[in-house]
Amino acid sequence: MKISVVGTGYVGLVTGVALSHIGHVVTCIDIDEAKVERMRKGISPIFEPGLDELMIKNIAEGRLFFTTNHRDGFAQADVIYIAVGTPENEDGSANLTFIDQVARDIAENISKDIIVVTKSTVPVGTNYYIRDIIEKQLKVDLQVDIVSNPEFLREGSSVHDTFHGDRIVIGADSDDAAKVIEEINTPFGVPVYRTDVRSAEMIKYASNAFLATKISFINEISNICEKVGADIESVSQGMGLDKRIGSLFLKAGIGYGGSCFPKDTKALTQIAANHDHNFELLKSVIEVNKHQQSMLVHKALERFGTLRGKNIAVLGLAFKPNTDDMREAASIVIIRQLIDLGATVKAFDPIAINNAKKHLPDNVEMTNNIEKALKDSDCAIIVTEWKEIKELNLEQYARLMKTPVIFDGRNCYELERVKEYDMEYYSIGRRPIV
Ligand code: NAD
Repeated sequence: MKISVVGTGYVGLVTGVALSHIGHVVTCIDIDEAKVERMRKGISPIFEPGLDELMIKNIAEGRLFFTTNHRDGFAQADVIYIAVGTPENEDGSANLTFIDQVARDIAENISKDIIVVTKSTVPVGTNYYIRDIIEKQLKVDLQVDIVSNPEFLREGSSVHDTFHGDRIVIGADSDDAAKVIEEINTPFGVPVYRTDVRSAEMIKYASNAFLATKISFINEISNICEKVGADIESVSQGMGLDKRIGSLFLKAGIGYGGSCFPKDTKALTQIAANHDHNFELLKSVIEVNKHQQSMLVHKALERFGTLRGKNIAVLGLAFKPNTDDMREAASIVIIRQLIDLGATVKAFDPIAINNAKKHLPDNVEMTNNIEKALKDSDCAIIVTEWKEIKELNLEQYARLMKTPVIFDGRNCYELERVKEYDMEYYSIGRRPIV
């Protein structure tokens, strides 16, 4: 199959590369010239384990191309995948500006019948809206079929997820179009779930909202654990053994972040509101997450009285390990609060510093050397459970810091182990070690 993918972010690039790897001829289109230039040389603009190798291989084997020109990019295509961003508007609803533009780009540049597949996360009904724009703007009589094919990959393991996903959702009115997309995906060996367009669009939002609910639920339980003297790690484990509950997404911490859960939960409350439904449960999930992100700052304030003049090491900036994505990372909220409270921040992250610079004030010192971040600090706040932090020799805290006081937002260390070292340790949903 000849496929075009529009948008080469975390979803579009991984999709394009993976489709080329299973034998399709793929042209990836992006409006960002610098990015396209780098990708042509086999350099991925994002950090994703395993992606560079696959890019280089498929470029070399003549199945993967990059362009900024929509006409060239669509010239041979039987199928066009849309994978542009759908960020949030000020009111929390999904911003469809990029989607609008791509629909117009398609209408202006195709010259044969086409199947348009939307991978971007879009409100229910958007695939029909895309088809309407294309059909209204088309200057020649061509058939346009639409397929909703929402994406479920996780940043940090997106290459693995594409080849080992739980399901591929295909929502279509046209049986023929659905069959083509199913065939395209057959080599992945991932089970396909066929449904209608609107249900496919809803499956994506409902899945993310459910996972966010699980996280906020366990975080609330962790807050109660601290008050009643229970241990959240034991509680999660005991709950997770029940197959109806499952152990995944039951890890307490300082809340969810990233480019999807925050915006998709808000967008779903808006979608509901647009249809006169008050999605109270999801609004609470969002509110709980907001409080949870400030949890460690409250703990530090309680411990020190004031944070004015304190040197604080923030360990981990990316919204989760194995990604350089800083969108909606808890570190941004935490660092801003620390600075407002008069603290000086030195932050460690192995990968995300370049992206972090776009989100954080200039007076935040950043390093990819964990020892430098810890040196002479009054306390450390663990935000992202990077391997470098989890595997740190705990002796280092007392050796490097002025006072080894640790606030761990990801429960990186077992309490029994912490007790063997000279450190004061506050984590989530567990008793403090003082
Ligand atoms: P992103 O912001 O990383 O990338 C979007 C890309 O689209 C950018 O490179 C941008 O330059 C390009 N673009 C914008 N307009 C264009 C146009 N007219 N023509 C060509 N290129 C254009 O976005 P992302 O994180 O990959 O997310 C894309 C979509 O997938 C979103 O709807 C998101 O909600 C959804 N999604 C994301 C993830 C994730 O983990 N990031 C997972 C599942 C679903």
